[in-house]
Amino acid sequence: MDRIAIVGAGIGGLTAALALARRDVRSVVFEQRAALPDEGFGIQIAPNAAAELHDLGLGGVFDTAARPACREIRRWQDNRLITRTDLTRYDTPYYTMRRGALIAALREAAVVFGRRCVSVTDEGALSFADGTGERATAVVGADGLHSAVRGLVVRDAPRYSGYVAARAVLPMESELDRVVVWLGPHRHVVAYPVDRGHLNLVMVGRSGDEPFTGWHPAVRELVDRVERPEAHPLVDRPPAPRWHRGRVVLLGDAAHPMLPFIAQGAAQAIEDAATLARCAGRPDAFAHYEALRRERVGRVTDLSRAGAHVYHLPDGDQQRRRDEDMAAAPPGSHDWLYGHRVASLLPSSNTSSTRDATPSFRKI
Ligand SMILES: Cc1cc2nc3c(=O)[nH]c(=O)nc-3n(C[C@H](O)[C@H](O)[C@H](O)COP(=O)(O)OP(=O)(O)OC[C@H]3O[C@@H](n4cnc5c(N)ncnc54)[C@H](O)[C@@H]3O)c2cc1C
Repeated sequence: MDRIAIVGAGIGGLTAALALARRDVRSVVFEQRAALPDEGFGIQIAPNAAAELHDLGLGGVFDTAARPACREIRRWQDNRLITRTDLTRYDTPYYTMRRGALIAALREAAVVFGRRCVSVTDEGALSFADGTGERATAVVGADGLHSAVRGLVVRDAPRYSGYVAARAVLPMESELDRVVVWLGPHRHVVAYPVDRGHLNLVMVGRSGDEPFTGWHPAVRELVDRVERPEAHPLVDRPPAPRWHRGRVVLLGDAAHPMLPFIAQGAAQAIEDAATLARCAGRPDAFAHYEALRRERVGRVTDLSRAGAHVYHLPDGDQQRRRDEDMAAAPPGSHDWLYGHRVASLLPSSNTSSTRDATPSFRKI
């Protein structure tokens, strides 16, 4: 196969296929599922990722998305505002939407369904669960938290955070124009709009079904409407010492799964994909990609992991100090995260050099 094989048709893999195609690099995506999921749950697409999708010509995906103006962090018991972050200070909006709509819009690439990759070699040979095999010029492991491709690059195992997330989409009774996060002892709740009539609710706690005794009625009114919360364990992995080996490279959750406390996992997968495509055609493309991404991803991953502690502090001095620190954060304190643009690190190479991208990937 004279093409790049991408394993996994999630947000990372599909964005990588699109970003490579924009640079005339051909790829094929192998997905274990029989079809793309039509997930109704919500996703927050922060400006750092939204800008990359706009650059890829995918602005239309956001036509029906909500554009919350701010994110509020509130206290669990009295609904007191701790801090409000202005989300309109960036060139690109902060969007919230349905995951299924995003995935469907990303699907421009050739996707081969029902192919579960079980192993790869550093020479680019892939083996599938159905006994078939393929050989690719390069392999992009975009197969998520339980990545099979990652096993070639690093040996480790997922680690459980001690928290689970329960999600639900609810009809909105009054319009919600912001992201609201209520922080309480050992749990937090997030609500944001996914379209004009619905909001996405995420409840994070030690288990999916503890009662919200003592929580403010604004929160209880929402969580009481959830009928059967489906608990989803929150898991990440230790940082990988490297993200590539031979002809194989990792991106998104396969490279750096992170806890969802700052809603950046998919955003970082999109940044990875945009960066990797821009590295195509350079010598040592995979090493270059990793070098460009590692520090930023490390910072985002650490912050996400810290959320498991910081968001869930019990009432007391430490919690009060946290609230004061959050309240004192200056308006630009999120600019490093949301204001980031891949192009600022790696300006576009011209079309003629990107046409050579596949052979350069081949040499890696
Ligand atoms: C509760 C929760 C809320 C979140 N909210 C946000 C948010 O608001 N914003 C945000 O940016 N991020 C959010 N995230 C994180 C985000 O969902 C992930 O980081 C993101 O989906 C990772 O994308 P990916 O493409 O790397 O992996 P995945 O989405 O896991 O996709 C991997 C794909 O590979 C396929 N696959 C797996 N193994 C194989 C195999 N062996 N062979 C072939 N195919 C395979 C899978 O079927 C899947 O289609 C949240 C996560 C959770 C748990």
